[in-house]
Amino acid sequence: MFWDSYNETMDRASLEEHQVELLHKTVETAAHSAYYSELFKKERITPDSIKTMDDLRRIPFVTKDTLREEYPYGFLATSKENIVRLHSSSGTTGRPTVIFHTMNDINEWTGLLARCMYMVGVRPKDVFQNMMGYGLFTGGIGFHYGAERLGTLVIPAGPGNTTRQIMLMKEFETTVIHIIPSYALYFIKTLEEMNIDPNRDLHIKIGFLGAEPHSEATRRRIEKGLGIDAYNSYGLSEMCGPGVAFECQEKQGMHVWEDSYILEVIDPETMEPVKDGEEGELVFTALKREGMPILRYRTRDLAVVYPEPCACGRTHRRISRIKGRADDMIILKGVNMYPIQIEKTLMAISEVGSNFQIILDRKDDNDHMIIKVEVSNDVFQGDLKQLQRLRERIAKNLNSEILVTPEIELVEPNSLPRSEGKAVRVIDNRDQWGN
Ligand code: AMP
Ligand code: ZN
Repeated sequence: MFWDSYNETMDRASLEEHQVELLHKTVETAAHSAYYSELFKKERITPDSIKTMDDLRRIPFVTKDTLREEYPYGFLATSKENIVRLHSSSGTTGRPTVIFHTMNDINEWTGLLARCMYMVGVRPKDVFQNMMGYGLFTGGIGFHYGAERLGTLVIPAGPGNTTRQIMLMKEFETTVIHIIPSYALYFIKTLEEMNIDPNRDLHIKIGFLGAEPHSEATRRRIEKGLGIDAYNSYGLSEMCGPGVAFECQEKQGMHVWEDSYILEVIDPETMEPVKDGEEGELVFTALKREGMPILRYRTRDLAVVYPEPCACGRTHRRISRIKGRADDMIILKGVNMYPIQIEKTLMAISEVGSNFQIILDRKDDNDHMIIKVEVSNDVFQGDLKQLQRLRERIAKNLNSEILVTPEIELVEPNSLPRSEGKAVRVIDNRDQWGN
């Protein structure tokens, strides 16, 4: 089941040795960029001064703000002639940033994606329908090239247009899909409405879910609703895009491809490393990039590292699901919570439909949370008492997860706004009250 057994199963000592070698080389390359040449001079860092993993910690972190300040060419480490592609982050939090790639960068990245797909059983005979956004966003194009490298037939469907997606799936007997989890939930609902049973009418068996936080409850819903095995896929455009970490068939966390990335986990407040098994912010150093090397990038994504060896035989450490970005934390009446806690609770309740929205407001000088929850038509038009009981049950389950009791509003299917890309779950109206 290995695409590249040499790299995927390299013993830890050799893997770390390999990382230090690549790091040395990356520092050498990075020194050609305007940003790093100045920084290295200031910090007295030379490629030869980076001899061990500990030396990495001499290099300052990069944040999204650093990339914005250096926009567009500050991190470029090669001549513009060598650049073949530009990507951009989806800009969920402020002005987007731009990443440049050389042909070698694209080839390395593509290889990692082929590795991810092969790992979970995709083979050349498969038909891959890529239902993820194409364009500046890295999710669609990244997987597209990876699947071609692996040798599958790729259907570059992109997101949305559900009826056409289903037609393509039937017509070309799609076996593998790549889809954003919030769209997958909607897709399942549409299949139900159209009376299509995926086990009977479709051929899909494997799905990749990525680009936004989602819980185990959501994975289970998607697996059941589509009759597939679904795997979590993590990445970010600053580190090329998808293919940074991916679940193996054990489904016990995502392997970070440590032959291409150095992973650190830090306490976002003190910026000191956390102990294995403790939650922290993921920090990545890209080890094989020549166009735009980025060292120690602070992702703001929170997760836990599982250092134990994995039953699949790969030696690369695993990370948990992403709890969310540090910026996603909601503080309500002094209580901290993440949208994924709400998602997890809702998705475990079978009457809950495919979409929800969290609205934060002020009421009588107090923080107030309303959660609008779509339910199925049957439930919505059913007995009022039952609806009331469902509302109470949702509020109670949420209270035990987030420790506050939100107001629950049950709404009709398809009545809440949906986006084709990453779902916008939270609307915070509190700022207008001057808080
Ligand atoms: P972008 O650079 O626009 O592709 O966005 C990357 C960000 O999307 C990451 O930093 C994460 O916050 C989020 N993301 C990507 N994949 C996942 C995933 N599998 N689970 C949770 N969040 C994810
Ligand atoms: Zn594994």
